[in-house]
Amino acid sequence: MPKSVTRSSKLGTAERAAAIEVLRTKELDILVIGGGIVGTGSALDAATRGLRVGLVEARDWASGTSSRSSKLVHGGIRYLEQLDFRLVREALIERGLLLQRIAPHLVKPVRFLYPLTKPVWERFYIGAGMLLYDLFSYTGGRPPGVPHHRHLTRRQVLRAMPSLKSDAFTGGLTYYDAQVDDARYVANLARTASFYGAHVASRVRVEGFLKVGERVVGVQARDLETDERFEIRARQVVNATGVWTDDTQSMVGERGQFKVRASKGVHLVVPRDRFQSTSVEWLAPTSATPEPTSSSPRYSLRPALFRPASSAVLRPCCSAQARSRVPACLSIPLE
Ligand SMILES: Cc1cc2nc3c(=O)[nH]c(=O)nc-3n(C[C@H](O)[C@H](O)[C@H](O)COP(=O)(O)OP(=O)(O)OC[C@H]3O[C@@H](n4cnc5c(N)ncnc54)[C@H](O)[C@@H]3O)c2cc1C
Repeated sequence: MPKSVTRSSKLGTAERAAAIEVLRTKELDILVIGGGIVGTGSALDAATRGLRVGLVEARDWASGTSSRSSKLVHGGIRYLEQLDFRLVREALIERGLLLQRIAPHLVKPVRFLYPLTKPVWERFYIGAGMLLYDLFSYTGGRPPGVPHHRHLTRRQVLRAMPSLKSDAFTGGLTYYDAQVDDARYVANLARTASFYGAHVASRVRVEGFLKVGERVVGVQARDLETDERFEIRARQVVNATGVWTDDTQSMVGERGQFKVRASKGVHLVVPRDRFQSTSVEWLAPTSATPEPTSSSPRYSLRPALFRPASSAVLRPCCSAQARSRVPACLSIPLE
């Protein structure tokens, strides 16, 4: 066991109190603000390098975007089209590590179907991309952890997804990525960071910064359990507050380097009884365009790909609760 391991991975009341006591009395090498995937990952990284680390989260671990993602651990197949090979290769190697070594209990392979609607060239073009995707996944010195892509005839596609209209596509391809229980993964990171000596506390909100001249030397924090205010001193402060980055930066009193802009991703989750699928859980992006209805938050979708019975009302939805109830998910760009 490394020498830096000073605490247990338990994050109970006593451990939180002990962490806060250290945060308020000792100067840290690094204080990380925000307990999402970025903050917990940074804290673990720093703690395993032997640094004295603090990690504070205003609410609960992964209570921000990190529990509201699509839960995909993917290599980013669409980035191949942008020729960003380095990014894709790195992400695929990380995907393999997560699947087989880091968190096999939280990450599982998931199968995508890409229906082809154009003549021969589309099979060649998409197939070449998927072949490259598979090849990159072997370059990390370990197996990719998921099966390789496959070409399907129209009949095989129909067998995999009987709800598709048989005359709407010419065939298809399947490929794999992975899916993660994102919130549990973040909670595990916080616990592991604590295990390696990081002083971690949830329900501690940063409300201001301590500065000497222009230099940030710590933060003013509030324990939301006791309403007590205290100071945390650190040689470096990491702002990992995700969509709250602008608010956090504005506490420093000047515009920071990063500007966070809103972006939206929508997945259409289809109830199992509306959509038959034997082995495919996700349908890769198609050209279908849904029609938002003004009277309801639902989307009425009549894409050319589906049989009428399947194209009733689909709800755009990403919540973990919904994902556990409805396994099929269409990833369709909304215009
Ligand atoms: C719809 C959607 C789908 C996505 N799908 C995927 C996907 O499939 N795969 C993937 O890899 N990525 C996906 N992403 C991206 C991914 O979810 C985000 O990049 C990631 O969650 C951002 O993590 P974060 O730690 O930066 O932010 P967050 O998870 O939001 O964490 C920031 C934390 O900071 C805390 N905080 C804020 N202010 C303070 C303060 N003053 N004091 C203390 N704490 C504070 C908040 O409470 C919060 O917990 C998706 C994103 C969206 C929106």
